Amino acid sequence: MINEGIVNVSYIIATILFILALGGLSNQETARRGNWYGIIGMTIALLATVFGGDVTANYDKLIVALLVGGSIGLLLARRVQMTQMPELVAVLHSLVGAAAVAVGFANFMGHGSGLSGVELTIHDIETYLGILIGAVTFSGSVIAFLKLSARISGTPLTIPGRHWFNLALLIGAIWFGRDFVIQSAAGGGLEPLIIMTAIALLFGIHMVMAIGGADMPVVVSMLNSYSGWAAAATGFMLENDLLIVTGALVGSSGAILSYIMCRAMNRKFLAVIAGGFGTGGGTAAKSDGEDQGEVIAIEAHDTAALLAGAKEVMIIPGYGMAVAQAQHIVYEITCALRDSNVNVRFGIHPVAGRMPGHMNVLLAEAKVPYDIVFEMDEVNEDFPDVDVSMVIGANDIVNPSAQTDPDSPIAGMPVLECWKGKTTIVLKRSMATGYAGVQNPLFFKENTRMLFGDAKNSLDAVFKAL
Ligand code: NDP
Repeated sequence: MINEGIVNVSYIIATILFILALGGLSNQETARRGNWYGIIGMTIALLATVFGGDVTANYDKLIVALLVGGSIGLLLARRVQMTQMPELVAVLHSLVGAAAVAVGFANFMGHGSGLSGVELTIHDIETYLGILIGAVTFSGSVIAFLKLSARISGTPLTIPGRHWFNLALLIGAIWFGRDFVIQSAAGGGLEPLIIMTAIALLFGIHMVMAIGGADMPVVVSMLNSYSGWAAAATGFMLENDLLIVTGALVGSSGAILSYIMCRAMNRKFLAVIAGGFGTGGGTAAKSDGEDQGEVIAIEAHDTAALLAGAKEVMIIPGYGMAVAQAQHIVYEITCALRDSNVNVRFGIHPVAGRMPGHMNVLLAEAKVPYDIVFEMDEVNEDFPDVDVSMVIGANDIVNPSAQTDPDSPIAGMPVLECWKGKTTIVLKRSMATGYAGVQNPLFFKENTRMLFGDAKNSLDAVFKAL
């Protein structure tokens, strides 16, 4: 066992490392370093907690738990495909929520902590909030996992009077909170705690079920934030400063990310949370694309000729690039074009793919230089000067109906305006819709060419022809 002073110093060092980790992760060039800061910080935090004064017995059980948990984590991380990352993140959030609920109940049941009066009330409120946020995080993340992995439909479930239903759940949670605090002072309180947990679980399910179409990114980042607040509340319960600080860091950075995602999609945060966005349905899913106009297909060698003859090329990657694992061949083509003095840039939409930063991670993995990768806002004005835009497995993020059809589920979402360039080549396998389930008029424009097939296979052929 190590003494309290060392534990405190370790906690401060871990906190600083976590802050450096978040700072590092906000930029591609420093992301790898940021990851290392996080890993080292977490190792220090774990060791200080395990060998600190709070653990006095049952080391054998603790070590078994660490080994089992660590091995499962290692196995999952090694096995997960890039396309499954968003689901994995959702599952991990659900574990934080479940842990907060379990710790909350354990803490409450074993609480004969000698607290009374105001101190007991404060402790009860901490416990109640920890379990409440944890349960919402848990059930919401499980639904997000099911939606992201397409195990359940992404279509929003909008029950009539859903806002009243949410309000009733909120009032119920407050009501039973009052009951809990009163009963706890008299030695009881388990019953209202269980009822509130059921209410919170239901709220989490209903909240995420009601989110539809393209609004899932906000939910993913919001659940990230909730998981932080759940951890912080657990920290208060356990009087663990490091958990409070770490939870607050995750909670607030997740909240900032949610805000960024909302701005990227031109949505109001509260409106997304209240649910039912993405329901519109005005243009929803005419997946065969009939009577929308004519589609002009193109072959790989003609694509190569267009690229080779261009001065300005914009590559717009989307979820399909992740599915096809086409990022490496994209890099090869980029190098070949740049060697022939073609100016190649990448335009990244903030919600491209299935998790925040998804495309940046893929491109960094393929060693695409950071200085040619741009945010949507940095390049959207430049399209009139672009000779060829190559849309690789993207759909919703280049859908002009977001600007033209007020009934569209993605109405108002800023999109990459590639149709303003000379030629757009779209690589995808079919005329199927993207995540939001809406048909895309871009595919029917005169200056659009469709290169059908798996993006990696198509690009292999383009590279050969180049
Ligand atoms: P989309 O889901 O809109 O479109 C992806 C396209 O890729 C599909 O139309 C599909 O067409 C094509 N595709 C799939 N597999 C392949 C393949 N092997 N080769 C070639 N093409 C392929 O993706 P976008 O990136 O454009 O937009 C992201 C969407 O996901 C937005 O609606 C966003 O809101 C949502 N979302 C984003 C999250 C985030 O945090 N970034 C989280 C959750 C949702 P086809 O089947 O014909 O090949």
